[in-house]
Amino acid sequence: MKVCLSCGQQVPVQYNVCPYCQKPTSGKPAGEELGAIKYLFYILAIFIPILGIIIGIVLMISDDPEKKKVGKTCLLIGILMIIIVCVLYFLLFAALFAMSI
Ligand SMILES: [Zn+2]
Repeated sequence: MKVCLSCGQQVPVQYNVCPYCQKPTSGKPAGEELGAIKYLFYILAIFIPILGIIIGIVLMISDDPEKKKVGKTCLLIGILMIIIVCVLYFLLFAALFAMSI
């Protein structure tokens, strides 16, 4: 048995629609599906920005608004990290250039 998320009644596991309130029972509460793994995606996006952008695009194609939200965040983190790395490289080369004169 599982508990209906809409009305709280006990519903047999094989039921996809609650017999009491007719609401779908298979859907998990928003955000639960990506609960822990979204942080993994964020961490990946920080350390491997390209991967974060790819994950972001893949998730944004999804119909699930929660996945879209996580995808958008991954994409933003990925882009931000690439910009930060570019700025750091620019500063490094500027510093090396300044020292070589
Ligand atoms: Zn119900």
